Amino acid sequence: MDADVVIAGAGPTGLMLACELRLAGVDVAVVERRADRTGEARAGGMHSRTLEVLDQRGVLDRFLALGELQSVGHFSGIWLDFDESESRHPLPLMITQSTIERLLEEWAGELGVRVRRSAEVTGLHQDESGVTVELGGDEPATLRARWLVGCDGGRSTVRKLAGIDFPGTPATMTALIGDVELPDLDEEYIWARRRPDGEFSVIGFEPGWYRVITSAYDRVADRDEPATFEQLRDSLTRLAGTDYGMRNPRWISRFGDAARQAARYRVGRALLAGDAAHIHFPAGGQGLNVGVQDAVNLGWKLASVVLGRAPERLLDTYHDERHPVAERVLHNTRAQSALTRPGPQTDALRDVFGSLIVFDDVNRHLCAMLTALDIRYPIDGDHALVGRRVPDADLKTSGGVGRIHELLRDARPVLLDLRGDAELAEAVRDWSDRVDLVEARSEDEHWPVPPGSEVAAPAALLIRPDGHVAWGADLDARPDIPALRQALTTWFGPPRRP
Ligand SMILES: Cc1cc2nc3c(=O)[nH]c(=O)nc-3n(C[C@H](O)[C@H](O)[C@H](O)COP(=O)(O)OP(=O)(O)OC[C@H]3O[C@@H](n4cnc5c(N)ncnc54)[C@H](O)[C@@H]3O)c2cc1C
Repeated sequence: MDADVVIAGAGPTGLMLACELRLAGVDVAVVERRADRTGEARAGGMHSRTLEVLDQRGVLDRFLALGELQSVGHFSGIWLDFDESESRHPLPLMITQSTIERLLEEWAGELGVRVRRSAEVTGLHQDESGVTVELGGDEPATLRARWLVGCDGGRSTVRKLAGIDFPGTPATMTALIGDVELPDLDEEYIWARRRPDGEFSVIGFEPGWYRVITSAYDRVADRDEPATFEQLRDSLTRLAGTDYGMRNPRWISRFGDAARQAARYRVGRALLAGDAAHIHFPAGGQGLNVGVQDAVNLGWKLASVVLGRAPERLLDTYHDERHPVAERVLHNTRAQSALTRPGPQTDALRDVFGSLIVFDDVNRHLCAMLTALDIRYPIDGDHALVGRRVPDADLKTSGGVGRIHELLRDARPVLLDLRGDAELAEAVRDWSDRVDLVEARSEDEHWPVPPGSEVAAPAALLIRPDGHVAWGADLDARPDIPALRQALTTWFGPPRRP
């Protein structure tokens, strides 16, 4: 074998997955079609749950140092206020995709990930023991691995080679986007200014640089038609009546509102994650976030299977948990796309929607959806936190003070005992090679659960490496030890001594 896992694509999803697999000790090779990093700005930010997962791994400070936190967000251009009590990192971080990719690749390098550039996946053959991956590009080659994950973007070759359908809805509009200088602009920014035949925004991105976005509804551009500076300038002039002296394009691109999702996230030994598994209108800035969170859901599961600790069926939970998440993103971005269309009917709809969004519950509901803080995976169990991401509560341990997300640095599962219960230590002993037992105290009586809810601090929680709760016990009841052992077996494999 050349590697346990080959990842196609060194975008944000592929790089994050590579880091997750390396943290678990898996030998991973990333193959990337491009000779260099794209340098394309593309995504402009990361939401709360993505910041939390980077914090779980101890690398968030690198991103915070190069981005800027925003106090507001939007749903289809209508402002939202983020509730600062929902998370330790509640606000979106404005940071370009090129910077995110650079930081992820640096971290991957530190963990020993091999990234092979100018290497394009062109062929795939599966058998019982592994996959053979054909590479085109500068130096055609063949790689043999046990698993292949296609993180190769919306036009994924892996998805096509694996024969996975990509149903959905075609684009109904075309938007142009570019990072340019606008010397004649005398406003700080222009936000979603609507016109009878489209809308435009101008957002200050870095000192002297603006991101211009123009949307047109009278035609749908061919996917392969190049986006040019002249098109962006013409489009802005048509909508704004001026080009604000537009010059010096750093990056120009085009996007639409096509929304498609892979029918299956796994066929045999080939899996999909990120844009390879789902594409949608980039409204609300969710795409990169969903991809990074796909990677965090898949990484530890694939590692457990590769290392022989869990059966292959654990991988089916990746589809079961993440497919509905992206399905919901497609749904909310279709709604956002509908709310951007020109015309008096949409103007009226936006007014009504805007009058509803000021209600706290509506604002909180939409924020929790866009930030992915409200995700609850379909995991068996009675406790109110089962399936949810664990809140990052403060802890007191024998070693001092800390917090829950810090316990997930090594991407290992944690049984958190908040009551000092000898039964728990006994129950987890048979998994002690795979699961860390941590005894601690929580000073808070209640923990926040987005959107706008809370639960009583629990007596114990079994936390998966992705930060989601697999089992829990309340303070006022005895822990259900058979259910704990069942959860340990389901997620982390059979006990050492049956
Ligand atoms: C204009 C725009 C604005 C956006 N804004 C936001 C935002 O604010 N927030 C947000 O979260 N998302 C945003 N997105 C979406 C975001 O850019 C994508 O969701 C994100 O890039 C997906 O990451 P990925 O790693 O899954 O795929 P990609 O970033 O597409 O990476 C795929 C990689 O695979 C490589 N590749 C392709 N084919 C092969 C092959 N056969 N073999 C080997 N390598 C291959 C590619 O070269 C590429 O490097 C925006 C998108 C656009 C277009």
